[in-house]
Amino acid sequence: MTIYSHPTFDMACDQFDKVADLLSIDPQDRDRLKYPKRALTVAVPVRLDSGKVQVFSGFRVQHHLSLGPTKGGMRYHPDVALGEVAALAMWMSWKCALTGLPYGGAKGGVTCDPSQLSINELERITRRFTQEIISFIGPQIDIPAPDVGTNEQTMAWMMDTYSIHTGHTVPAVVTGKPVHLGGSLGRREATGRGVAFLIGRAMETLRLKSQDATAVIQGFGNVGSVTAGTLASTGIKVIAISDVSGGIHNPNGLDLNAIHAHLQSHPTLAGYTGGDRISQDELLTLPCDILVPAALERQITEKNAHLLKCRILAEAANGPTTPAADAILDQRPDLFIIPDILCNAGGVIVSYFEWVQDLQSFFWDEAEIMGKLYRSLENAFRHTVNTARDRQVSMRTAALSIGIQRVHQAKKSRGLFP
Ligand code: GLU
Repeated sequence: MTIYSHPTFDMACDQFDKVADLLSIDPQDRDRLKYPKRALTVAVPVRLDSGKVQVFSGFRVQHHLSLGPTKGGMRYHPDVALGEVAALAMWMSWKCALTGLPYGGAKGGVTCDPSQLSINELERITRRFTQEIISFIGPQIDIPAPDVGTNEQTMAWMMDTYSIHTGHTVPAVVTGKPVHLGGSLGRREATGRGVAFLIGRAMETLRLKSQDATAVIQGFGNVGSVTAGTLASTGIKVIAISDVSGGIHNPNGLDLNAIHAHLQSHPTLAGYTGGDRISQDELLTLPCDILVPAALERQITEKNAHLLKCRILAEAANGPTTPAADAILDQRPDLFIIPDILCNAGGVIVSYFEWVQDLQSFFWDEAEIMGKLYRSLENAFRHTVNTARDRQVSMRTAALSIGIQRVHQAKKSRGLFP
């Protein structure tokens, strides 16, 4: 399936092949499990504020349909490509299966740079993109959510466009909406809080104390910033963060309130003076207890894996570590890895709660949602740790094998049509 050729797709396939060997999955079943079931590419013509028309590329990939509708985010970023989206959809499948959600994985996006577009242009892109993929999504078909470069407002426009097409309000067509439109309490914070919860569980396992611990976070979007705030609230010192403009480092701990205040009036961390400027490469190799890549794929590679100086690598981003880096990290028992499909699963878990609440038109309070979220993550964490121990494999291989095995079992039981 060369249409998906992309370094990130190769990476997801590599991980899959390794686990398929470990689980002795019949070669006949492998391609069915690996390749996306459906993919849609659309041209999104949009009139810019200047009056000029620009055609953007839009994608939606649905990885497998064996356990229910598909689920996953919509990414707006200049690097969005079919193969990248396909890899992210595959990881959503394993993530949903690992956490027991009744979904297949999906992902989508538009190749664009949101920082260069006005709010009106973003609205027109979102509405036209939604219209182009409208028969491909739906509460029982495929349910988008936010990802890199999109947010609650994007989801509100998608929901509105879909609802106008249908003729009545359909909140369950997307998750990660504003709470006043049928969004779920706790959804905005869910991924970051989940990351912090799992870091806490890893610290217990390693007997590390919050009071003495330091954290470094790559990426200060929704996930990175909520993770930073939640870790800081437990006494962990956040000593470095970064965004597209580079990193800032303060060994005495960064003032997160001052950073949020800076970001109110500046688009990026550039110009913030409460720490030393450092590069992304320097940030990843700072000595710390907890390293949280919370940005894009393929950040930890064979070039820097041996230089990491953390105890816990908490993968808040999807696919931050390449298989070549994994081969190096596998030789480093000093490092506890919380693999992406476990680490950032809090987002899609609360998305599932949002979808259920929308379908039943009955909403839960935040305490109930957070309690259910932490129970789900605790189960997935234990299952992964136990599998890693019993099979003598890495945490990544353990998490992937639980997810892949569940999808495989579903496909086997349903059989092949016709
Ligand atoms: N984009 C998020 C992820 O990668 C959330 C997906 C969702 O909530 O459906 O997990």
